[in-house]
Formats: sequence, C-alpha cells, structure tokens
Amino acid sequence: MKLLCDMHTHTTYSHGKNTIEEMVEQARALGLRAIVISDHGRSHPMFGVRRKNFEKMRREIDALNEKYNDIEIYLSVESNITGADGSIDIGKEERQYCDWIYAGYHYGYIPASVKDVFRFAIRNYLTVVFPFMKEKTRKVNTRTYLEMMDRYELKMITHPGDKLPVDIEPIAKKAAEKGVILEINPRHSHLNSEELKIALKYNVRFAVNSDAHSVQALGQVQGAAAIIKKAGVPYERIVNIEE
Ligand SMILES: [Zn+2]
Ligand SMILES: [Zn+2]
Repeated sequence: MKLLCDMHTHTTYSHGKNTIEEMVEQARALGLRAIVISDHGRSHPMFGVRRKNFEKMRREIDALNEKYNDIEIYLSVESNITGADGSIDIGKEERQYCDWIYAGYHYGYIPASVKDVFRFAIRNYLTVVFPFMKEKTRKVNTRTYLEMMDRYELKMITHPGDKLPVDIEPIAKKAAEKGVILEINPRHSHLNSEELKIALKYNVRFAVNSDAHSVQALGQVQGAAAIIKKAGVPYERIVNIEE
C-alpha cells in the first residue's frame, strides 16, 4: 500500500508541532506526490485556526508551490460539526482561501447555537455515560451528517462516527450521491472494518490519511492496512493510495 497524497495533516496553525514548510519537506522526503494542510476549524477555542491566518497560510502554500515542482500542496480546513442541523464552522476566509473543505466531529468546539449546546454537544457527552441514550443520539447524529452534506460542498468527512454514534449506511449512501470522500483514519477507531463493509455497498470513495500532528507521523498510515484488508476494500475505491 503506497500513499500518494496525505490529505489530512495539522501544523502549528492549529495544534500540530511543525510548520507548513516542515511538513512539506517531510512529504517530499517520503516521496509523496501531494499533501493537504488541514488544520482545525475556527470554532475550537484551543486548536482552531485564527480567522486572520487563512490568508497567511494561503500565501505560504502558494510560495511553496512555486518553490517545489516535485509536490503539490493544497490548503483545506478540518471544520468542526457544530450543530444538530449540520452546521459547520465555515466562513468567508475558509471559502476564499482554501482549495476545499473537510468536516469532522471533535470535542471542545463552541456549538453553533445555545440550542445546540443541549441538543447536540451535551447529548453526545451524556451518551458516553448513559448508553440508553445511544439509539436516539445515533438518529440525531445521522441526520446531522446527512443535512451537513446537503448544506455544504465537502470534499471529505474526517473519521466519520468517531466520538459520536452514527448509522453509517445512510451516510455512505448520501456521500456517494454527493461525491463526498469518507476517511479511513488509523489515529481513530472509525471507520472500522464493519462500517467499511456497509459503506462499500454504495458507490462511495475512501481516503486513507495520517491525520499527522508532527513530521514523524506524516504519511504513517500502516495501521489502516489491516482494516482495509479485513473489510475487503478494493484499492481502486481509495483515492490516494496505490497498491
Ligand atoms: Zn479530526
Ligand atoms: Zn485532524
């Protein structure tokens, strides 16, 4: 399994340990054809990219693309899912400066509205403690993912179903319709091989990414090989690897 493009990486603009340039240097050393810088969405008070930094990141990336012709560098953002209605923390800067947008669920973001504090954020925290809530929460979350794909043009959903229960089947179906890539992320336990088997029924594409927060972790996706094998995912369904 050869990784061609690491589509999900973090830098010092959120809580990664290395700069964009250091990540790009490492990607070149690994022989990757492309790298996508995808720091966290702005609504995370600790990790989110400051609004003013998108322009700066864009300039840095444009300069590196000029400098190197052996790698392509893209700018994205791993926006946070912030509301039960599928809201994500995307504003003018992300649309203006990013090549495309991802979305994923994380802890610690600021919910889209006061209502979302209760019906979405707290609901998902409580579900961890009270398993009886899981089925209802799963329904709410699944609808959130579906609405999000209707509302936004997304390139990829990062670690779908991680930190919150979802029903992968309708999500995979919608992702196939909308052309949204579902991520296989060895740093997280979702998608797992059971979910992948269900998702495979639909014409959805996948990507394997490191979600690296340092140069050492960049391109390190070996952990995904066993999941892919167990689920029987054909390599041609994964957009960024070669056999
Ligand atoms: Zn994430
Ligand atoms: Zn990430």
